[in-house]
Amino acid sequence: MTNQIAFMTAAPQAAASAPTNALVDPHGRQVTYLRVSVTDRCDFRCTYCMAEDMTFLPKRDVLSLEEMDRLCSAFVARGVRKLRLTGGEPLVRKDIMVLIRSLSRHLDTGALDELTLTTNGSQLARYAADLAACGVKRINVSVDTLDAAKFRRLTRWGDLGKVMAGIDAAQAAGLKIKLNAVALAGEDGNEAEIPELIRFAHGRDMELTLIETMPLGAITADRNDQYLPLSALRARLMDQFTLVASDHDSGGPARYWRVGETGGRLGFITPMTHNFCESCNRVRVTCTGTLYMCLGQDDAADLRAPLRASESDEALLRAIDEAIGRKPKGHDFIIDRVSPRPAVSRHMSVTGG
Ligand code: SAM
Ligand code: SF4
Repeated sequence: MTNQIAFMTAAPQAAASAPTNALVDPHGRQVTYLRVSVTDRCDFRCTYCMAEDMTFLPKRDVLSLEEMDRLCSAFVARGVRKLRLTGGEPLVRKDIMVLIRSLSRHLDTGALDELTLTTNGSQLARYAADLAACGVKRINVSVDTLDAAKFRRLTRWGDLGKVMAGIDAAQAAGLKIKLNAVALAGEDGNEAEIPELIRFAHGRDMELTLIETMPLGAITADRNDQYLPLSALRARLMDQFTLVASDHDSGGPARYWRVGETGGRLGFITPMTHNFCESCNRVRVTCTGTLYMCLGQDDAADLRAPLRASESDEALLRAIDEAIGRKPKGHDFIIDRVSPRPAVSRHMSVTGG
């Protein structure tokens, strides 16, 4: 593949405000945020996310870059203003910059406010400058610990040095970074290292967001052992830090605190203990073109069939409309203490974090 995508069926959008055919669900929420998993593959095997011997999807089931562009552009045409590419690891998808460069046309027209990604950082040193050149302004980088040996154990295959080099390159390219860390209990958890992560992130002008583990997909480890409620972690952090509740709202599920000692911002995403569904403005698409209207529910719509059935976007848009008409009011996660089965059977790497 060259670095040009020879398609663009949807005309670039010029609308800066909500189009008249905006995607509004039955609960009155407008869908303005699309997260797209561009691949289920990854160069890490984080213990809370994947089993070591994952079976990945056959290539024919995965949308081509052209199909992903069409799909994203259809959502943009219907009022989506923020696009996040995720995975799996988005930067291991072959020719990913071709897609990102192509999608950046929607930034140029003003149809899209933000094009961003969530990455494990392993390939950032290579791509940071290109991402910035495509109009990407901010990215999320996932780092659960700054201890290189523990990082290797948690990710199974990851190299902390490479991730740090990626963070350096991204900042040098002018990208704003938010660090994400999953809070993990137990022997191989990271609870003891959270203070260091806070100081590191804030010392480098990065926000840090802590995430509770969610019961998504079968993994080798026991989720009950890994689950660390953020309410308990926050109480313990208050022994070391002055945390002042902040009314900052990023439009997502995080709740924020200002850390007195560092001056930085600390976010908490608590899907297990806090219900944030009322203001949900997002949907997710997997790399096979399956649309999930809620991360915590199994109801989904196949967008690949209408995408592949015709070069026109008519059937695709109809399928999107029907699906948004079924967007549920909220999720119902539980980490079941009796059954070892996950509450939702698909992995986070399939739906995209
Ligand atoms: N590979 C990229 C990365 O790690 O940033 C993007 C995909 S990853 C699935 C997105 C986010 O989901 C990461 O921050 C990861 O830590 C988080 N994640 C993965 N599995 C999770 C789980 N079971 N519960 C909570 N967060 C999870
Ligand atoms: Fe890969 Fe991200 Fe899952 Fe880790 S959390 S295995 S980096 S997809």
